[in-house]
Parts: sequence; structure tokens; C-alpha cells
Amino acid sequence: MDHYLPPVTGTDIWYYFICKRELWLMLHEIAPNEEDENVEIGRFLQDYYGTRGKEEVDIGAGKIDRLKKVKGEVIVQEIKKSSKFKESSRFQLLFYLYQFEKMGVQAVGELTFAEERRKERVELTEENRQKLMKAVEHIRKIAKQPVPPPPKKIKFCRQCAYREYCWAGE
Ligand code: SF4
Repeated sequence: MDHYLPPVTGTDIWYYFICKRELWLMLHEIAPNEEDENVEIGRFLQDYYGTRGKEEVDIGAGKIDRLKKVKGEVIVQEIKKSSKFKESSRFQLLFYLYQFEKMGVQAVGELTFAEERRKERVELTEENRQKLMKAVEHIRKIAKQPVPPPPKKIKFCRQCAYREYCWAGE
């Protein structure tokens, strides 16, 4: 029998699309190097949390920034500072749309990049749903692994709080 695994959350989706090793480290509560002045975990989180305000709505698997209804359409709005983590932002929003769908609510997403003053519509198409389901399955597999996936150099490593942990001596 499988050990109990906590349900996948919007935060897990966010890290999955940035770095799978980071996702594992976060899931296993490995503390990042907080004394590192260049620690950018705060930056990730700042972007992840965007410009959260009073209107945020807790849907269990995460908190969405805003829910609105325009011309009969339910719109889930996520506000991010920039498009730096666009893939993560997009799939996180798709994940929330999927949660709404499970509750019987057909909704569309609106991703706003505050600093760039632009927004994008996000829809849970069949193709997106399949990619999302694949990611959710993969997150579950990663969570069960006894050791983290090996590090891979990506553009976010430079600003990552785990950089010493992954790349000590480089
Ligand atoms: S330093 Fe790079 S490989 Fe290591 S967790 Fe951070 S982003 Fe991932």
C-alpha cells in the first residue's frame, strides 16, 4: 500500500514548472540557505504571490487572487508581477480551473502581468488538461522519490536559494 501523500497544490505546480529538484526539496522541507544574500526564494514567492489583496479566495488546493463574473462567464484572475515565471503561472492557473471544474464550475483564467500591464486568457482545453494531468502524476512520483532529482543548470539557478546545495564548489 502507498504511504499517504498530501494532495498536490498550486504551489507544487508552480515549483514543478520551475525546477523538479527544487520541488522535491520544498516538498521534503529541506531548508534553503537563508543566510545567502542572493537568496531569491523570496523573489520566487513574491512573484508567486504576486500582488495579493483582500479579494483572494481560498479553494483548498491554493489561493486565487480574484474571482469575477463578466457577461455570465466565471473568470479566475491571477496577478503576477511579471511574466518571468510564465509557464509556472499558466499551469498554476490551469490547475485552479481544473479544481473549479471538479466543483462543477466552468471557469476561464485571466493571467495579469502587473509590471508589463498586460493580460492573457487561459483556458482548460483538452490539450492543456492532458499536460496538467501528466504534471500532477509526475509531481506525485517525484514526491515519493527517496532522493531529489539531480540538479540541472537552468537560468533560475543563479537566483535560487538552493544554489549552494546544488552547485557547491562551482
Ligand atoms: S539551484 Fe538550480 S537545480 Fe538547484 S534547486 Fe535551484 S533551480 Fe533547481
